[in-house]
Amino acid sequence: MGWSDIIGEPRVKRLLSSAIERGRVAHAYLFTGPEGIGKDATALEFARALCCPSAALSAEGLIEACGHCPDCRRAVSLEHPDIHIVFSIPRGKGTSSNDPVENLSEEELRSVRRELAEKAADPYHHINVPRAAEIRIDSVRMIRRFASMSSSTGRWKTFLVFNADELNEEASDALLKTLEEPPAGTVIVLTSSFAAQLRPTIVSRCETVQFDLLGEEEIENALRTRLGIDEGEARLAARLSGGSYRHAVEVLGEDLQEWRNEVVDFIGYSLTTRYALLARRIEQWAKADRQAVTNRLRLMLSWVRDVFLLQTGSPERVLNIDMESRLERFVGRYRSARTADALASIELAIGALDRNGNTLLVLANLAAELRRNLAEKEADAIPL
Ligand SMILES: [Zn+2]
Repeated sequence: MGWSDIIGEPRVKRLLSSAIERGRVAHAYLFTGPEGIGKDATALEFARALCCPSAALSAEGLIEACGHCPDCRRAVSLEHPDIHIVFSIPRGKGTSSNDPVENLSEEELRSVRRELAEKAADPYHHINVPRAAEIRIDSVRMIRRFASMSSSTGRWKTFLVFNADELNEEASDALLKTLEEPPAGTVIVLTSSFAAQLRPTIVSRCETVQFDLLGEEEIENALRTRLGIDEGEARLAARLSGGSYRHAVEVLGEDLQEWRNEVVDFIGYSLTTRYALLARRIEQWAKADRQAVTNRLRLMLSWVRDVFLLQTGSPERVLNIDMESRLERFVGRYRSARTADALASIELAIGALDRNGNTLLVLANLAAELRRNLAEKEADAIPL
């Protein structure tokens, strides 16, 4: 453990480390930015650095937890009494107003424990307990109660509220009160990918820390070192990830070979006159969820980018190496293809899906653009 276990985000690491070093730790932080880039993981590492009595400067010049003292060991297994984690749990059937966990059924308790164990094993795991949709007031009351107790180490007590946009109205009221009168020696860290859904009065009481999308290389390296994924697959997943580590991991579980075949078929149908096949493919894709369509379009980007690399004489940078002969056939067949324009039209389609554009229309439009940019001259040559 240590900051080196957090993927990328050098600016955020420096900011948090320097707050500890200068004794300028804020009472409350809001970690915000896209999903799956390590906001929770960073919050956990920050909490460890705050509670380890032997925290010191690392080789990279960052204040970090020592990793081997008894406090660090408890912190790693998420069992440290000074690090409290709040997230959505089911309502449960019990009537305890003391501890929301006491209200859970055996099964619910098991799933909460399982999620916590997964989070301890992999801080990039997204906690998701079945039937848990909101953070309720009893969870926030726990913060107030624990905040009033003294720290077991004499150092900071931290409260991490994961997915803080799931706080319901009542819980938001209670949290706001806590933020208005921050208990001494405590740090509250809210994490959220949807900060716009948080109450502005809450946001204004926190120091906002904006996280960046991760770089393709950072994600590729993380997949290789953390999960032992081989280079080719890691690079492809990183390229499809859109800068989110979690998204890259999700992509790994998919049948990328099948997706790629679908993508190459889509391009082929668009450029020739196989409109019935094209229409069927568009319909199929439009039925899938939006993210799955975006993933296929990202694969399309990587494939057309490879065509561009072959056209411009840089075959060593081709990503879809196993499809090289198919790529070369394409380059030979469509000699005047305007690949850069085709790439731009795919980017536009991804953007349109992002903004909730109608999937059918976006794909039909993309097919027409691909034909125009990649095969216009050839199409002209087809005798009527
Ligand atoms: Zn330690």
